[in-house]
Amino acid sequence: MKIGVSYGTATLMGFNHSKCDCFPTTAYLIIGKKCNNSCAFCSRGSGQAETKLSRISWPEYESDEISDKIAELYKENKLKRVCFQTVCEKDTVNNLKELIKEIKSKSPIQVSCSIGTISINDLKEIFDSGADRISIPMDCVSESLFEKIKKKSFKRHLDFLEKAGETFKGKITTHVIVGLGEKKEEVFDFLLKMKKCNIEVGLFAFTPIPHSEMAHCKSPDRKAYREIQLVHWLIKKGYGDVLELKEGNISQIKNKIYDILEKTNDKTEIFMTTGCKGCNRPYYNERPGQIPYNYPYKPTEEEIQKAIEEAFS
Ligand code: SF4
Repeated sequence: MKIGVSYGTATLMGFNHSKCDCFPTTAYLIIGKKCNNSCAFCSRGSGQAETKLSRISWPEYESDEISDKIAELYKENKLKRVCFQTVCEKDTVNNLKELIKEIKSKSPIQVSCSIGTISINDLKEIFDSGADRISIPMDCVSESLFEKIKKKSFKRHLDFLEKAGETFKGKITTHVIVGLGEKKEEVFDFLLKMKKCNIEVGLFAFTPIPHSEMAHCKSPDRKAYREIQLVHWLIKKGYGDVLELKEGNISQIKNKIYDILEKTNDKTEIFMTTGCKGCNRPYYNERPGQIPYNYPYKPTEEEIQKAIEEAFS
């Protein structure tokens, strides 16, 4: 079977000779082409372009060649995880289970997948085939915008995510795209809810993609993104109770946050890529050379200080 491989993953695997300053630590793969859904921020929806996901292109290779490469790179400690992105098609779940089995037959590497709402039984079968985490992307956390952007029911989607979190404790991830028009406080409320449900959150910055309905919209302001990263980190560290945030304004609790930061020896995680362990997603939301929304490597002390200043600017 042929599968799509992110351009950066293909570079790491030696399938092209592009230069790369920061390699992925997860092999990002994609199954399917034309999605049955039609999310406004994505170009894979019905009748739109089928070659990209976010700003990334996904050349195709035979799965046995890919699973051999994964086993080799895992042994060399160059890959920590495999993550399947899935496009919603008729055979997606069956193909995904087969491919996970194939990879796990050659290597003990951890495997995640990101898949739209399906059924608890399908999730169980995907776990049984060898996945250790599954992401059910929420993407848009604003109830009023969700139906317009994802063309689905917000409540049904959130209920399913919470049910999955309860059924498969500590094994569910979700994705949040910042910059779809939501309010900051909607993001903060959602992050608090996910912490209570023991669901990991991978933060993404909205990236306008040609041929998508939102191609004309702008990427989020980096200050707002830094604020959300800082709050996300505080919530993950168990400081959710200090966040009495009115209208999403963190400058009201600036002193409290500085007290916490002063007591923290290692601040590298705050602005790094979040989600499953071992996932760094380099250049997913920005071009090489741009200051990253999510640092795919441990940022320097100077980069961390700048990011904190940006959050409070
Ligand atoms: S956080 Fe990373 S590894 Fe986990 S599902 Fe999302 S993209 Fe995949």
